[in-house]
Amino acid sequence: MVGIYVHIPFCKSRCAYCDFYSTTREVEKEAYVRALCREMETRRGEANGETVGTIYIGGGTPSVLSASQLERIECGIREHYDVEEDVEFTVEMNPDDSVHVLADIGVNRVSLGIQTFDDGLLALIRRRHNAARAVAAVKELQDTGISNISIDLIYGLPGQTLQTWEYDLDVAFGLHVQHLSAYALSYEDGTPLTRWRQQGYVQEVPEEVQVQMYERLCERARAEGFEHYEISNFARPGFHSRHNSIYWMGGPYMGFGPGAHSYDGCFLRRANHQDLTGYLEAMNHHNVKDQKWFTEETLSVIEQFNEAVMCGLRTCSGVDVEHIGERFGQVRQADLIRMAAPHLEAGRLVLQDGHLRLTSHALMTSDDVMSDLMMLGN
Ligand code: SF4
Repeated sequence: MVGIYVHIPFCKSRCAYCDFYSTTREVEKEAYVRALCREMETRRGEANGETVGTIYIGGGTPSVLSASQLERIECGIREHYDVEEDVEFTVEMNPDDSVHVLADIGVNRVSLGIQTFDDGLLALIRRRHNAARAVAAVKELQDTGISNISIDLIYGLPGQTLQTWEYDLDVAFGLHVQHLSAYALSYEDGTPLTRWRQQGYVQEVPEEVQVQMYERLCERARAEGFEHYEISNFARPGFHSRHNSIYWMGGPYMGFGPGAHSYDGCFLRRANHQDLTGYLEAMNHHNVKDQKWFTEETLSVIEQFNEAVMCGLRTCSGVDVEHIGERFGQVRQADLIRMAAPHLEAGRLVLQDGHLRLTSHALMTSDDVMSDLMMLGN
């Protein structure tokens, strides 16, 4: 089974914290949809006869496309790939956009970028919507019969307190959604938010407060019956993101559009250039296969090992130590256990049923543990 990701690099405006590849040049949407279908056609052989189990249209903001543009993308996928009947089909939406774009294209999961229910913070980070609109968007989706809704939240926003975060969680869990992704704010290079911090207009929330916010999130999610199945992801039973799980389990996926990544599930990684103009030119070219619009990288064994360990530790299933031995040999398996030993002793890791997992209080500081388990070299 393979997952398909389609990148929509358009946003109506840019949020202050975001460094994702997207543009506000919306005029090229029609040409872009045509180009996406060309890329799908060009790469049809890469699925190697595997069926498509998940489709994820993300961005950017897919909901800035019209219903007919989204439908053409869906048709392009179905025309060139063998889509499973019970495919998980997710579209990311901005709460400010109309749910009508989803009409009749088989979407069965929606991911809403809400970020916070605090109007002051939403304005600060330059989101288009306000809290009332976010709540209304969830209700509209529920009324249209979407029974698998995920919402995104951010904690550690400048000025956010434990109390305002608790309020965000109250509203979020009150909406009866099936899935929640919550990420600590990251100050990315080149974003307005990072500039404001450097200029002293905004202050970073102290790390100990961010840890408390994360702990509160985990407690609240557990009490609400959500499974904490990945460091930043929580779901009601049966509603784990199948698409994102492909990434975390090291499965194969194909990404279409500028900036999208692909992986063959073994060692070959591909990244489409983050260049909309170059992408459109390449897809318009009569000999598209000879155009240079992506780079490929063959992962070394050590890179594959590091990736398997890092992705495994992010999930509640952990790293399957026996599988590591089968895939990378007994020596590397023993190395892993040796490198894990100090963290096992300190209670940051546990080894249960042959799986190495982060303990709940080590999840927030997982980067330190992960870097200790990485192998050096190529
Ligand atoms: S809508 Fe999403 S992709 Fe676009 S700028 Fe905002 S956070 Fe970034």
